[in-house]
Amino acid sequence: MSRREFSKETKRLAFERSGGFCEGSGPAYGLPPGQRCNAPLDRGVIYDHEDPDYIGKNNSLENCRCICPQACNKFKTYKHDAPKIAKVDRLLDRQRGIKKTASQWPSRRLPTKADRRRFLARMAAREEARR
Ligand SMILES: [Zn+2]
Repeated sequence: MSRREFSKETKRLAFERSGGFCEGSGPAYGLPPGQRCNAPLDRGVIYDHEDPDYIGKNNSLENCRCICPQACNKFKTYKHDAPKIAKVDRLLDRQRGIKKTASQWPSRRLPTKADRRRFLARMAAREEARR
């Protein structure tokens, strides 16, 4: 399946809206509800599908968030999108009569700030080990 991208125009408008600061906010990005990351985007920006591309196929400006590549993108990709995509796959499997055992299901607990800190420390250690 090919991944759809935002248009250049959508990216321009989204970046303008961000004011040059990370738009990651709330539990999907490992932050408390309503809290925005606001990290400066001068060292790189990811145009993130708030509703994961795999599920939503929504390339509108409303679904585009300018987020920081390190903290927010990594957290959302691994801790939010991956479990959400896995859930869609499980539902499809169930429709097709393919079952998984309950113990394979990930926890549904919302991530806390401590989870984000631990996760980022683990990712940093992994990158350190790669050098
Ligand atoms: Zn961020």
